Amino acid sequence: MSVTQHTIDLRSDTVTRPTTAMREAMYRAETGDDVYGEDPTVNALQDRLSAMTGHEAALFMPSGTQSNLVALLTHCGRGDEYIVGQQAHTYRYEGGGAAALGGIQPQPLPFNHFGGLDLDEVRQAIKPRDVHFARTRLLCLENTVHGQVLPLDYMNQARTLTTEQGLQLHLDGARVFNAAVASTVAVKDITAQFDTVSICLSKGLGCPVGSVLLGSKAFVGEAHRWRKVTGGGLRQAGVLAAAGLHALEHHIERLADDHRRATRLADGLREAGYPVSETGSNMLFLDGSDLPLAELKAALEHAHIRVDLHDPARMRMVTHLDIDNDAIETVIRAFAALR
Ligand SMILES: *Cc1c(COP(=O)(O)O)cnc(C)c1O
Repeated sequence: MSVTQHTIDLRSDTVTRPTTAMREAMYRAETGDDVYGEDPTVNALQDRLSAMTGHEAALFMPSGTQSNLVALLTHCGRGDEYIVGQQAHTYRYEGGGAAALGGIQPQPLPFNHFGGLDLDEVRQAIKPRDVHFARTRLLCLENTVHGQVLPLDYMNQARTLTTEQGLQLHLDGARVFNAAVASTVAVKDITAQFDTVSICLSKGLGCPVGSVLLGSKAFVGEAHRWRKVTGGGLRQAGVLAAAGLHALEHHIERLADDHRRATRLADGLREAGYPVSETGSNMLFLDGSDLPLAELKAALEHAHIRVDLHDPARMRMVTHLDIDNDAIETVIRAFAALR
């Protein structure tokens, strides 16, 4: 008898499906029309995340891309500039939305070894106030950044620099709960230093949909308008916000399990002779100068294991809610058989 084999999907932590308990919370959600601000579950999620992150206000968004876009549209006008990492999600993986829709010029800078931007380079990239130049308004950081956790003192220094220079500071915190859990600090210790923060509920937290943008009341009031303009005003979104509230209650501490499993996977692959880079959170990479990564990916797929190779020189694997200890051991055995 043939059995449909379960696929172990390590491409991203976005592939998780809502758990039964999460679906039950969604089913039970009280709803209202959120365009009128009348969805009690959306309001509860926004209040809860504001309190957790040390921000005055929050805005539920359909996606992280929209949340970052709305942040940029709110911070920057036409002809303004933001400083951002060359490999940052907002710059590289969001379709150039800030330029396309906002006339906002990015000033990309290379990431340093921990995924930050060198602050001397940032300082030098800030344009003088002169008619020749775009107006530099904002510095955008990411945490975690390709799985790596930004050091707290680096973020403090970035805060000092941006305050000194009159710039705003935005965090693409798609996976900021992974950062907080990995460094055993409260998420507020990271997020409260930024003017604005975007957080994804649909990554490690395991929700089907949703991100949240955080900032001051005045900022969120203005962002609310841009959310509407970009088509992100939702109606009975409480069914989605209920998943978010459930995740904040049940899926944060368990991120430590994902991190532990990523470490176990890294150890197992190293023992099997693969060159692995660990991140300390839920991602690991095979940097394959001497490895035929495309062939390896195809062979793994044959064994019902999926990995990410959108950078052809780097295989990415991400642990998440749907990857248990047995799955990790299965993956290690499959890699060992292919070495
Ligand atoms: C996933 C992600 C986003 C936004 O993603 P959506 O898929 O649009 O929800 C933004 N930044 C980072 C770092 C991400 O990983």
